[in-house]
Amino acid sequence: MLYVISYINALETDRHKVNMVIHKEGDKSRAVCDTCKNIVSTTFRYAPYNYEELTISDILQGFCDVCGVVVSIPHQSSYKIKEFRERVNHPLE
Ligand SMILES: [Zn+2]
Repeated sequence: MLYVISYINALETDRHKVNMVIHKEGDKSRAVCDTCKNIVSTTFRYAPYNYEELTISDILQGFCDVCGVVVSIPHQSSYKIKEFRERVNHPLE
């Protein structure tokens, strides 16, 4: 029983750690915008992400609040892009 409780606590701790770096739609951040040549405030939004000739839907991206271009891809989205890329490069047979 004690073992189970400490296991659950460990899971909670892990989840808490993960949550700290997970962004949601509408979250604000700051990033360097190449177009504005400045540090700008950004807003995270789900949008299609272009990868080569393919489009991955619903990728969370940070958009510049000034000019609207994508200036950052959060870590959680880069996982999704990586997964997609692996699927494209190694299609299921
Ligand atoms: Zn900008």
